[in-house]
Amino acid sequence: MERPNAWKSYGKKQLNEVEKEAGDYRGFISDCKTERECAAEIVSRLEAAGYRELEQAVKDGKKLKAGDKVYLCRMGKAVLSFLIGKQPLEKGMNIVGAHIDSPRLDIKQNPLYEDADFAYADTHYYGGIKKYQWVARELALHGVVVKKDGTSVPVVIGEDEADPVVGISDLLIHLAQDQMGKKLSEGVTGEDLDIILAGRPLEGAEKEPVKAMLLSILKEKYGLEEEDFLSAEIEAVPAGKARDFGLDRSMILGYGHDDRVCAFAELKAVLGLKKIPDYTCCCMFVDKEEIGSVGATGMRANYLENAVAELTALEGEYSELKVRRALQNSRMLSCDVSAGYDPLYASAFEKKNAAYLGRGVCYNKFTGSRGKSGSNDANAEYMGKIRKIMDGNGIAWQTAELGKVDVGGGGTIAYICALYGMEVVDSGVAVLSMHAPMEIISKADLYEAVKAYRAFMAEA
Ligand code: MN
Ligand code: MN
Repeated sequence: MERPNAWKSYGKKQLNEVEKEAGDYRGFISDCKTERECAAEIVSRLEAAGYRELEQAVKDGKKLKAGDKVYLCRMGKAVLSFLIGKQPLEKGMNIVGAHIDSPRLDIKQNPLYEDADFAYADTHYYGGIKKYQWVARELALHGVVVKKDGTSVPVVIGEDEADPVVGISDLLIHLAQDQMGKKLSEGVTGEDLDIILAGRPLEGAEKEPVKAMLLSILKEKYGLEEEDFLSAEIEAVPAGKARDFGLDRSMILGYGHDDRVCAFAELKAVLGLKKIPDYTCCCMFVDKEEIGSVGATGMRANYLENAVAELTALEGEYSELKVRRALQNSRMLSCDVSAGYDPLYASAFEKKNAAYLGRGVCYNKFTGSRGKSGSNDANAEYMGKIRKIMDGNGIAWQTAELGKVDVGGGGTIAYICALYGMEVVDSGVAVLSMHAPMEIISKADLYEAVKAYRAFMAEA
């Protein structure tokens, strides 16, 4: 039952393809560090491939036919794309869905203060993080500030070689006796995660002169006032580019593999489809998964359903029944990363049912924690179908659970889509150090995920 390592099966041609995909992906996650940046890049690649906005298609009112391509982008943070298939929508779609938000530190609405000649930005962390991992390292600021007049100012500071970086200090070891005696979860607290933005007083400023210096730079370089933070979304993320990892360059170290590696794989998969598929292929790139799929851009919002309603109308005649059938008859891969087996923390895993880096795309029949709670448990019949597609297309794949039974767990967007009655199974790439500022994946698994999602869209 042990799954073979995918690298063993590659000849020269495949190794070249693996490297090519990895290079494209390294660039993607180096440049796209927020959900907005991911959505913009996805939209630009979709448009380059002939996709047009669903809203425009609705305005045009022309019937959609097989091979037509449309997309929608919700609030700049979530994207759905549809490649219309030969079968009517009510026969169901082949859906792949990943999320494009990642754990990070969000700047608070009223963030700025001065203390001991430092100017700070206060943060509220987003998603599940080990707080101690985010101190004493270089951070970059990405996001947007929306002014009262509606103009949006994009912010990216700390990525260009010529840019400064920012970061959070940690207590020196010499004075850390108390801190070191605390539980790992309490050594650094959420309110300790304040980012140093400046350290030099502005000449002539009497009150809070370092903060005044910071404000003068924000005004001069970005045209921003302090109050503009009230309508801003700025995320502090690890600075710098993704890198090859390991002397054999078999892996990639980077920020946000969870879940941009699956989002990227979906995109590459659909853009590489050679023929018009039988069933409409839907790719979802959603926001807010890391905080419970909430909000208007999270999976729990109704944009998939609304989009399918629009498509149904554009296909011919709208009826609610057709929309319900289209959703219920669909097949979906909920594409999200899986916990890579880590020999250094072997006791957290059950070896037979763990995901191994390099052994191909991973399927989790169920996720959840302590008795599968919160899981979508895929049907055996559906798993059988997936096995057939994977084996039939020579794809390296494996199955896994998220760690040992009583150790912990996690969830994905799978259960939300399953509410429509469609078949759903979790599928993704194994990640080492998941949710750490820098995560690790195997290039082989990325390559196999692209192939797997393409095969699924063509054949499911
Ligand atoms: Mn995830
Ligand atoms: Mn996650």
